[in-house]
Amino acid sequence: MDSVIDTLKSTLAIYEDERFFFIAVCSTLLSIVSFLAFALPWTWVAYKNPESLKKYRIQGRDFPVKRWLVPSLQRFALNNLVSFLGVVLSWPLVRHSGIHTGPLPAWYVIVAQIACFIVLDDFLYYWMHRTLHTPWLYKHVHSVHHRITTPFALTGNYMHVVEFMLTSTLVMTGPALLGAHVVTMWLWIVFRQLEAADGHSGYDVPWNPALLVPFYKGPVYHDFHHRRFFGNYAGFFAYLDKLFGGTYSKGYEDYRRAQPPVAAPVPEPQPQPSQSQQ
Ligand SMILES: [Zn+2]
Ligand SMILES: [Zn+2]
Repeated sequence: MDSVIDTLKSTLAIYEDERFFFIAVCSTLLSIVSFLAFALPWTWVAYKNPESLKKYRIQGRDFPVKRWLVPSLQRFALNNLVSFLGVVLSWPLVRHSGIHTGPLPAWYVIVAQIACFIVLDDFLYYWMHRTLHTPWLYKHVHSVHHRITTPFALTGNYMHVVEFMLTSTLVMTGPALLGAHVVTMWLWIVFRQLEAADGHSGYDVPWNPALLVPFYKGPVYHDFHHRRFFGNYAGFFAYLDKLFGGTYSKGYEDYRRAQPPVAAPVPEPQPQPSQSQQ
């Protein structure tokens, strides 16, 4: 009996580590707050649908905010809850990652590490996303995210809980591999949530501050993925779709070439992809 109690005590003791609070609790809260901070203003714009911004709508049609607002918030809450429970359960393993709370590295180390996280995450995300478009995974997991054919910012995290946890795991991979400082990881999480919200904003405005991020193609890139169901699998860098078989969404390159870009009519949804159309 004593040995059982000792085992229980030693298991609980690992949750008293301050890193559990910073890495698991603070990171989850920061992820939630930063996504909402980026997504809610754009969602408000989509809801108000001001006349002055209609020319910047990527799909040229009204956003289904009333239909998807509550489901998006519900999914976001559920996904974060399950994801947090996943972090708690996996903490005995995660605590052995190199993520630390020691002295803060120099700013250029932080910048370089975040650049590495972006490249790595995008590469991993590209292949995960392509795999999610294989028939079985699409039907049982990824089709949830593709219920949204005209995205607005809050739908950026409307997805099956399995996809949410896989995406979260990819986000954590870079910091774990490089043994990043927890502050570096937090900055990376904020950036990643900016990408998630901005990529679904539905507006292609030339003054979008997110476009200041080097090589970022803006919301148009992922919006075409929702609109066409196929192609543009990368989350950030367009080169991946070019490099791995030219998997651009139909019409995307024409849109990019048009000056100024012209919002095209949206085709009827075709929710079941086939292997040959990946
Ligand atoms: Zn997809
Ligand atoms: Zn999406």
